[in-house]
Amino acid sequence: MLTTPHILIGAAIGSQLPHAWQIVPAAAASHFLLDSIPHVQGYIDVEDLGKKEVVFLLADIAVGVGILTVLTVGNPIGEMLWIGAIAAMLPDFHHISQVLFGPGSLSRYQKLHMKFHWKRDMKFIPGVATQILIIFVSFLFITKLFNLSS
Ligand SMILES: [Zn+2]
Repeated sequence: MLTTPHILIGAAIGSQLPHAWQIVPAAAASHFLLDSIPHVQGYIDVEDLGKKEVVFLLADIAVGVGILTVLTVGNPIGEMLWIGAIAAMLPDFHHISQVLFGPGSLSRYQKLHMKFHWKRDMKFIPGVATQILIIFVSFLFITKLFNLSS
């Protein structure tokens, strides 16, 4: 799963729950749920991460963080959206450890993480559509709250 849908669904959870102690576990759990949904760009193989993939990954993170920044500026519950977004990304942080300390690091966690992950190949359009749908639904939740609080 791309990072942007993870970030936005985390933010959507942050927009719906009043307390950080509720947001963090729910958003972290949403990560595994999203990973299990059929989608393209399955798993990042850190061992042969090319320049193109790195640029793509960084662009994906930049898009997600950019959208989140726009949604949270001047938002009274912006902090909650960020908490949700960060918690929703946390389960993928072993990738950073793999880049820094080698592909073998956190291998047990990696195996657990993979258990939830959609592994089959998928056609590009439906595989992207599921992710766009997640972004769209998250957006609805986040913006609905905007209306309520204004
Ligand atoms: Zn993941």
